[in-house]
This record gives sequence, structure tokens and C-alpha cells, in this order.
Amino acid sequence: MSQPRYKNILLKVSGEVLMGDTPFGIDMPTVEAVARDIKQIVDEGVRLSLVIGGGNIFRGMAGAAKGMDRASADYMGMLATVMNALAMQDALERVGVNTRVQSAIPMPTVCEPLIRRRAERHLEKGRVVIFAAGTGNPFFTTDSGAALRAAEMKCDALFKGTSVDGVYTADPKKDAKATRFEKLSYHEVLSRDLKVMDASAISLMRENAIPIVVFSIRERGNLMKVLHGEGVYTTIT
Ligand code: UDP
Repeated sequence: MSQPRYKNILLKVSGEVLMGDTPFGIDMPTVEAVARDIKQIVDEGVRLSLVIGGGNIFRGMAGAAKGMDRASADYMGMLATVMNALAMQDALERVGVNTRVQSAIPMPTVCEPLIRRRAERHLEKGRVVIFAAGTGNPFFTTDSGAALRAAEMKCDALFKGTSVDGVYTADPKKDAKATRFEKLSYHEVLSRDLKVMDASAISLMRENAIPIVVFSIRERGNLMKVLHGEGVYTTIT
């Protein structure tokens, strides 16, 4: 196999991936399968920061739609990401990957608080750092959290692992004529309003010239393939 294209990546895994084929919550066999895929790239020497979404448990917008105060609902969403982070930590450690969870909302009984320089030290020691609770602020998403951490940790790429194998002209689940882009610019994503990540995340990646790689993390072994420039994905630069 060719050399890995990137050495210091931030991997964002959306919450819905962790549901597997179940309708809600955390499907542990799926989390374990993702953990094994992550181990493959860590064993190759990739420095890995991880951000996990919370949409499999709670989304602030859904709470607000039912009449909840948006900020309170968003805090619930951020707590959901902490649950997912702990599940992923457990699965990773069982396959032999050393990890630390750092939460943007301090909860010292459960995990470390977010301290950038400490996270750097963990990464230097070959540990995977799982950044939980998104940005720590309501009205944001874990995509923005992922972009922020990718910039802070000076990552050379942001990998967005979803249930779709790249960016399409329209939602491929709804439109049979939708076609996949191989490459896009940040500007095209923003001007065509493509639903990849929210605009603040895309803008931050553009300002810091960090490529975004969108791929399906549902297929086993795909993370490794995409890291080597093989398989199917969309690159945004
Ligand atoms: N959230 C937030 N601020 C953040 C990150 C997340 O308020 O910085 C909340 C928000 O309510 C969001 C929920 O946490 O709906 C779960 O995150 P997200 O929807 O990004 O998860 P994903 O779609 O990646 O599973």
C-alpha cells in the first residue's frame, strides 16, 4: 500500500454512525467496529484527534422544535456527545488503543477538561484524544467543534466520517439522480449551499487551509483506504 496522505488528522464521526442499524442510541458492536478501523490507522503512526457527534442521542434543534429553550437543548446535545465519547474510549481501549477524553464542558469526575497543551502531550505519546462536548457552546454543532480542534491541534486534514460516501449534488437517499463530487473548493461548498458541514466549520477550514475529506465510515476498512488516497470520497480544498 502507498504512504498515508496525512499524518496528523482530526476524525469527526457523526453520532448517527454509532447507531448502526438500530433506530436510536449506541450500538456497541458498531462502535467496536469503528474502533478497530481507527486502530488500523493509529498502528500506522497517524496522530489522531477524534470528535464524536451526538445526533444518535439528542439534537438541540429537535428539543427546541418541541418547545425547549434552544440553549438548554443544545447543552443536552453536548452531554450526548460525552456519552458517545466514553463509549468510543471504552471500545478503543479494549482493542489496545490508548486514549484520553477531554470535555469542553468540564466534568472532572468523568474525564479531563479541555486543555490544549495537555492534549498535544497525549498525542505526542501516541494516545488518541477524544474531544467531547463540541465547542462547549450552544448554537454550534460538533462539525464546528471538529473544525476548531483541527485548527487548534494543527491537523493536516479533517476527516468527516459519515454514512454517505462523499458530497453529492443532492441527498442521494432522496434523489436517484444525485452525483458525487470528487473534489470541491470551500467556496463551492458555501456558494452552492451543499450540506456537508455548517458554514462556520467550512470557513474555519478555509481560513486555515485544512483540507476536508468526506467519506463513509460505515464500510469497514474504508478509513484506512481513504487515508491512502484509495476508495471513494470527496476532498474539499
Ligand atoms: N452541540 C452544541 N454545541 C456544540 C456541539 C454540539 O450545542 O459545539 C449540541 C447541538 O444541540 C447538537 C448536539 O449537540 O445538535 C449534537 O451534536 P451534532 O448535531 O453536531 O451531532 P452529529 O450530527 O454529528 O451526530
